Amino acid sequence: MIPYGRQFIDEEDIKAVVEVLRSDFITQGPKVKEFEQRLADYCGAKYAVVFNSGTSALISAYMSVGLSEGDEFITSPLTFVATANAGLHLRAKPVFCDVEPDTGNMDPDRIEELISNRTKLIVPVHYAGHPADMERIKKLADKYKLKIVEDACHALGAEYKGSKIGSCEYSDATVFSFHPVKHITTGEGGAVLTNDEEIYRKLKLIRNHGITKDPSDFVEPSEGDWYYEMQALGYNFRMTDIQASLGISQLKKLPEFVRRRREIAQLYRDLLSSIDWIELPVEKPYALNSYHLFPIRVKEKTMRKKLFDYLRSKGVGVQVHYIPVYWHPYYRKLGYKRGLCPVAEDFYSREISLPMYPSLQSEDVKYVAELIAQAK
Ligand SMILES: *Cc1c(COP(=O)(O)O)cnc(C)c1O
Repeated sequence: MIPYGRQFIDEEDIKAVVEVLRSDFITQGPKVKEFEQRLADYCGAKYAVVFNSGTSALISAYMSVGLSEGDEFITSPLTFVATANAGLHLRAKPVFCDVEPDTGNMDPDRIEELISNRTKLIVPVHYAGHPADMERIKKLADKYKLKIVEDACHALGAEYKGSKIGSCEYSDATVFSFHPVKHITTGEGGAVLTNDEEIYRKLKLIRNHGITKDPSDFVEPSEGDWYYEMQALGYNFRMTDIQASLGISQLKKLPEFVRRRREIAQLYRDLLSSIDWIELPVEKPYALNSYHLFPIRVKEKTMRKKLFDYLRSKGVGVQVHYIPVYWHPYYRKLGYKRGLCPVAEDFYSREISLPMYPSLQSEDVKYVAELIAQAK
């Protein structure tokens, strides 16, 4: 079976992990700090804080910008459930904004009508690796004094108007995931990037039970060298040095990973552009797409299941991204109804994600394209 996504691990990665296993630090130690510095440098942000998953990074990012009980946040329904769930954990309410028909990203023209006096935060998702139109989203956020957290779990290595996603040029914070299907992996893991020192300080507190050991942060006089303070209610969201060492080694290969993903995307385009019953993903003039996914859409809804089943039967592990978040039974029980975001629902009903990962062979891309050409 050719999967839709998979990690790339080489001997260098394995050596990096083994090196940590032989060292004094197994959990959070010097490798975590180094990984954070390298991530911040790569993206062009001041600060990076790594977490034990993309989901815990999302929860921490929302907390750090002040999202709390009774607040609303505006996000996309065309995403993994974690984007919205992270806010539910903080007892805030997700408000779903319909998407652009071509990119599948939050439609900037539909945000303003969703803003209420409870809205605190906007969470754009860079669907499949194509950046959302951040400049327009930022204008609205500034007008209404809202925070922005980018869910960039699909978009490490992507660029918006020449600046790297993660630079936080148009947001308060940006979240990445290092799950094995994403651009780089630490097994499980995630990160939040920011240029705001206060957000950075809060992120580090949330990650470690709200505890600080830094005397310059203490609000009470120190009792002695053993003294530390818990100043907020946090979690154990720590990444280990084992994971961070793998992350450092993976990050070195990221430019090559992105290059190969873009090469595969071009190959798909060359092979599929003449098939008139499907639509291919776009790349807007403001975007450099890092292609976490290669999402095609059939023009007729009825072809989706037929093509999906056919490709699966031929050993191609296609997937569908995503069932609109509010369609899930849990969200239905909260009162969300089908029909809320018609463009996202239509996108979902016609979408299939083709295999896309750096070690995917060009021969396999050709095989997938030939199958699609024969499928109708
Ligand atoms: C993968 C992903 C997440 C969650 O990341 P985990 O590391 O699996 O917790 C959140 N949002 C999006 C859009 C994702 O693709």
